[in-house]
Amino acid sequence: MDRRNFLKVALAGAAAGLGARGALPLARAESEPRKETAVLNLSSQEERIPGRSLREKVEKLQAWGASGLEVAGNAPARIQEIKDALRGTTVRVSAICAGYFSLIDPDPEKRKEGTRRLTDMLSVAGELEAVGVIVVPAFNNHPQLDWEEGRKVLVDLLPAVGKHAVACKTLVLLEPLNRAEAHFLNRLEQAVDICKAVRNPGIAMMGDFYHMAKEETDDEAAFLATGDLCHHVHLASHQRNLPGQDDRSFVAGFRGLKKIGYRDYCSLECNVQGESEVEIPKSFEFLRSQWAEAKT
Ligand code: MG
Repeated sequence: MDRRNFLKVALAGAAAGLGARGALPLARAESEPRKETAVLNLSSQEERIPGRSLREKVEKLQAWGASGLEVAGNAPARIQEIKDALRGTTVRVSAICAGYFSLIDPDPEKRKEGTRRLTDMLSVAGELEAVGVIVVPAFNNHPQLDWEEGRKVLVDLLPAVGKHAVACKTLVLLEPLNRAEAHFLNRLEQAVDICKAVRNPGIAMMGDFYHMAKEETDDEAAFLATGDLCHHVHLASHQRNLPGQDDRSFVAGFRGLKKIGYRDYCSLECNVQGESEVEIPKSFEFLRSQWAEAKT
């Protein structure tokens, strides 16, 4: 089953009440039972990978055993470049890390503009067959409503955005950050709360190990509580370096991901200490061993 046919089935499943995980856009799942067996699909943000061209970065990712490329918010101007870089490889676009959309600004006009930008980005994500568009509702340096008002605004505006995401066969991925960067949305359960209140198969969420270390008390429980709503993961150590470059353990979180049958991407969003060409493959190997260690 190719990705689009898979999605048709998955979206029909979501419409039948199977939840957002029904929208799992995973080409590699074609011959496997969905949900039953979790898979570690490694990915990286494009800027982390060394290379003179995007094609060279993609080839390195493939050689190092990764299958996802997370592209930056300037993707709309580079659609052909991205498609050309992936052609003939086993690497796919995992997500668009689009930065900030002003969705909970106190000014309704700014919210409208943010919503329009997000909607446009979802169209690009659909064209690139990405799992979704990463969305931080508000960073601390932007004007924003408080939790109660902001949540209400999101629950009002996200259904239409989610409908567009479904039409584009992609997802909105709400990302909680630690309170020093974004006090509006800190814990995975808060993102789940918004997704459940919106009740639209195009609205999902993600977890970032760097922020989770600061905000969650239990990585496994945090992912377990996301059920079928978690569709992307960011990887970084305590110091926001490559996984394996300090004592941050990924085992408990990976156990949670295995228990929810996670099959989307786990993507590097971090700095590197040392030589990228040496350290990134080493980090991928470390992550595979942490995944193997996470017994359920
Ligand atoms: Mg992140």
